[in-house]
Amino acid sequence: MKTKAGEVMEGSAETPRQPGEFGRKHGPAKIVLYVLAMALSFWIQTRGVTSTTQGVVAQLQVILSVFLVLSLPRYGFFTVASVMGLELVVLVWRLVLVQNWQILPGLLVCASTLVVATIISLFGRNLQRKHRELLRSQKELSKLNHDLVEAGEKALHLANHDPITGLKNATCLRSLIDGYHSTRIGDSSSQALILIELENFKTISSILGQRSGEQILRAVAGRLHNMVATRDVAAARLDGGCFALFAPFDPGTIEDTIHAIQRAIHEPLPINEEILEIRSCAGYAHASGEAIDTESLLRCADLALTSAREERRGSVQRYDSAMARLARRRADLSNELESALKRQEFEMRYQPQIDVLTGKVVGAEALVRWNNVRLGNPGPEEFIPLAEQNGQIVPMGKWILEQACRDAASWPVGWTVAINISAGQFINRDFEDEIEQLRDDAGLAAGRLKLEMTESVLIGGELEIEERLHRIRERSMTVSLDDFGTGYSSLSYLTRIPLDELKIDRSFVGAMESDPKVLAIVETILRLAKLLDLSITAEGVETTSQAKLLAKLGCDRFQGFLYDGPLTQTDLLARYSKAA
Ligand code: C2E
Ligand code: CA
Ligand code: CA
Repeated sequence: MKTKAGEVMEGSAETPRQPGEFGRKHGPAKIVLYVLAMALSFWIQTRGVTSTTQGVVAQLQVILSVFLVLSLPRYGFFTVASVMGLELVVLVWRLVLVQNWQILPGLLVCASTLVVATIISLFGRNLQRKHRELLRSQKELSKLNHDLVEAGEKALHLANHDPITGLKNATCLRSLIDGYHSTRIGDSSSQALILIELENFKTISSILGQRSGEQILRAVAGRLHNMVATRDVAAARLDGGCFALFAPFDPGTIEDTIHAIQRAIHEPLPINEEILEIRSCAGYAHASGEAIDTESLLRCADLALTSAREERRGSVQRYDSAMARLARRRADLSNELESALKRQEFEMRYQPQIDVLTGKVVGAEALVRWNNVRLGNPGPEEFIPLAEQNGQIVPMGKWILEQACRDAASWPVGWTVAINISAGQFINRDFEDEIEQLRDDAGLAAGRLKLEMTESVLIGGELEIEERLHRIRERSMTVSLDDFGTGYSSLSYLTRIPLDELKIDRSFVGAMESDPKVLAIVETILRLAKLLDLSITAEGVETTSQAKLLAKLGCDRFQGFLYDGPLTQTDLLARYSKAA
């Protein structure tokens, strides 16, 4: 630590003697000695010794008086005044009585000593007061200086550190990378920037509350710090749940290192009586090739992270140049998405859902389409994740709900409409009321609206989710767990949250006939659903043999190209409404 100015000023055990201040020690002894010396001088003066002796004694008398007044301003002056006063009275008295003119010089010495002592005392007191004031302002100044130094250090720390975790912040990381780039010599292929992002952090902290979110960040920062503490690694927190590490990492083992860090981060985390399982994904770039300056290194690592975010859970991605092209495409999509609603480019399709026992259509899943020729009519799998990231899913989701409820209101009364709900929509705490209002405004009867949510939407505080799902069901809407088996909720979670339906993901349906392990999963899901009294819809049913197998295993509904793909409202009604 740097030495603080204040500490230096106040630290010494004894305040050094200041100019104008004289020793005040041994006051009584000095006074006694002075009185004795004056008595002796008086005795000499009155003895009428030689004028030389008298002169020396007189000088000594003045010097001693001045010394006493200076060293003991108050009592010294009183003593000198009393002694000289007494001497004067005695001398005057003797002069008057005895008329001994030899006493006259002693009398003058006495009088002038008194005058000098008075002047010095007055002057000294003034000096003393000034000195005290000076000392006081010196102390204040040193305290002010100390506070200033402390405030400066605090401000510097704040400017460079994240207030929640105490790790470095983005500004500090940027200047560290700047510093690295300006001083590096020769090969830098091992220097890397790693970005590690907590999955669904925003959703989790919105559901659990800001304080719990901060607790999560602190815990993760601690784990991260423990993992890299022994190495010279700069660890920072960027925005949200994103952390960064900047240091030399061996290109051959960097991914093993990242996986080890992730394992530490993923350890169960107790927050507010709940045990959370935090997941993360990571992207990294080496400070070479395209990433030769700060901005491009940050951009490359970020592109790698974006790619990891879209991969399977826990994914680690290294930057490659294809990511830059993808990023440009993404930026184009994002720009166009902003005004797509206004330009009325969205359209709904409905994919029929078939009852296994009757073979009749019992409802349809609403799937959005984006008519944008310039971008090649991007599919929902491309633009929905983007809309979820930049928040555009909220207005878009509202439009989808309105449109789908309005369309479904004209369907045969026994049909349900299943609408996909993203996390960004569910975060809104008024969601249940708003959706009920939309349904009623569209004239869709209660019980005909099904909400499809993936496990990632329902992750977080289980108590709150449970309560909110109850509220949805109280409003006569049903909840279906979409893409079941691809997410990461534990099975015990299923027994606690109120659901109506599980949707078996199309990846399981597609592989169940060729892979016995997948078949075992499908069988288990179906058995579990029966035990928990949940109905099952299988999606992605493309062949008759898949349908037969699923029917044999006890599936309730099918959805897939074997029957029909997503249809326009007109086609759906034209093909199936008569048979309903
Ligand atoms: P999802 O919810 O799992 O939707 C089912 C997807 O499977 C649809 O893709 C559908 O066209 C496709 N599909 C249906 N039957 C088959 C089949 O037999 N074989 C194969 N291979 N695929 C089949 P789509 O419409 O491209 O939607 C993709 C994803 O985009 C959806 O997956 C959903 O996550 C999201 N999405 C689509 N529409 C919406 C929407 O309106 N809102 C939200 N939030 N997400 C949507
Ligand atoms: Ca769905
Ligand atoms: Ca699905």
